[in-house]
This record gives sequence, structure tokens and C-alpha cells, in this order.
Amino acid sequence: MAPPISSVLIIGGSGFLGCHLVDHFYRLTPRPDIHICDIRPPPALSSNFYSFNSNDISFHRGDITDPDSLREIFRATKPDVIIHSASPVHGMGKDIYFKVNVDGTQTIVDVALEQEFWSIIKAIVYTSSASVIYNGADLRNADETFPIPDVAMDAYNETKVLGEQIVLNANGKGAGLKTCTLRPSGLFGPGDRQLVPGMLAVMKTNGTMFQLGDNLNLFDFTYIGNVAHAHVLAAQKLLDSSVSDVAGEAFFITNDTPVYF
Ligand code: NAD
Repeated sequence: MAPPISSVLIIGGSGFLGCHLVDHFYRLTPRPDIHICDIRPPPALSSNFYSFNSNDISFHRGDITDPDSLREIFRATKPDVIIHSASPVHGMGKDIYFKVNVDGTQTIVDVALEQEFWSIIKAIVYTSSASVIYNGADLRNADETFPIPDVAMDAYNETKVLGEQIVLNANGKGAGLKTCTLRPSGLFGPGDRQLVPGMLAVMKTNGTMFQLGDNLNLFDFTYIGNVAHAHVLAAQKLLDSSVSDVAGEAFFITNDTPVYF
């Protein structure tokens, strides 16, 4: 039986997935203290889709590339679980991906492993991406045995791989920190600012007038609520001393049925 989570720090908690992570940790009984660390405050959210009261959530402005700001936030929030979901959005330059996804992730791990936090921080769950195994060729029935390609498709994918490795390498370090990474695919659901709005923008400008290929490609879009739920389960399993096959592992998070794209 897993001990209850007492305090969860959701890094990147003001983002699309972040708000759903807050929502899913909020539903736990007993409810942990829920803290967001982000460079921007959370947006105003519709109560049609989220069950939490924002007065119950504390926001801490912090940049994961700044170790001092992380130290201060770890001291203030005393998280037994850290969810690291922060990343720059798609379409940014290589430098920003390396700074946030690689240097920033290393900073989170380095500060969490400072002796001061050994007795506090027990687990880190990292939001990776299914794209870490994508090299441009079709992937059928892919699973965790598929290798990471030697050459990544782009800087985003390359840095998500490196971020994942940093977090997995930290497993077992310090006083027995436990870590795992989750690999969702393209996310959809309430609060999406990228996927469906992007598709609608293409449709509005008649970008769908051209067809490449046979129009039968499948893509594994993942519902945002399933992904948030997976993070809660991963955190609980990492804290559960009777579970030995989650720490140090990466897991794809999918829906049952792929979607025509
Ligand atoms: P998002 O942009 O909505 O949220 C990311 C959050 O990270 C933002 O609130 C942003 O302010 C914050 N952030 C960025 N840089 C930061 C920094 N230096 N310090 C602290 N916070 C910082 O993105 P999302 O779509 O919710 O994605 C969340 C995670 O899921 C990311 O790690 C992303 O790589 C991963 N992911 C997303 C998708 C997708 O389709 N959206 C698919 C697979 C994986």
C-alpha cells in the first residue's frame, strides 16, 4: 500500500497538461498540498472542466534553469513528489530547448539531490514524449523496447531524450530517490492551445486542399485526462515500497485506439 502523497510540486503546472495534473492530484483522498512552479501564473480556468478551487493551490514563480529559485521553492513547499512537466512549446530555437529541457532538468535533479532535500523529496516523475523514439520512419506497435534513434528528428526530440536520461540516471541516487518518465503522444482535450487550434487554423486558410500520401496515416493522440491520471499513478507507485518495476523506467502513455491523422 502506497503512503499518501503529502506535498506535490508540479513544475510547469500553469501549462495545458499542468492544469490537468493539478486537477487530478486535487481529486486524491487524502488530498496532498498542491504547489505549482512555473515562469508564469496559471490561467483562469473554466469550472466546466476542472474540479479544483484555485484558492487551494499555491503558485511559486520559478525558473528551472535557476538553482537558487528552485532551492527556495523546495524549502517552501517540502514536496515528497515532484512532477516535472515544464518545456518550451513547439517551434522554438535549439538553444531554448537545450537550456530548459537539458540544463533545467539537470538543475532540478541536482538541487533535489542536495543533501538538504534527501529526507524530503522521494520521487520525481518526468513528462517525456513519445517522439523520443521517432526518426521519421513509420512506427507500428511501438513499445518501450524500441530504441532511441541515433539522430533525433529535431532539437525538441533530442532534448526530451536527454531530459529523460537525466531523470532516469538520478534513480536510486541520494537517499534512494525514485524516478520514472512518461511518454505521452500528441495531447488533446480541454485547454489545448496547440493541437486542435493549429488544425483549425490550417483548415481556415484552406491548408487542407492538398493531400500527401493515401490519407490513412495513424497517429496516437492521447487524451489529456489519461496523461494526468498516469502521472498520479506513477507518483503513487514510486512511493510504494512494495512496487519495484516502476522506478528507473520509461513508459508510453497511449489511448487504446490510434486516430487517423
Ligand atoms: P505547455 O507549454 O502548455 O506547458 C509547459 C509549461 O512549462 C508552461 O506553463 C511554461 O510556462 C512552463 N515552463 C517553460 N519553461 C519553464 C522554465 N524555464 N521554468 C519553469 N516553467 C517553465 O505545454 P504542454 O503541452 O502542457 O506540455 C507539458 C509537457 O508535456 C512538456 O514537457 C511537453 O514536452 C510534454 N508533451 C507535450 C505534448 C503535447 O502534445 N502538448 C506531447 C508529448 C509530451
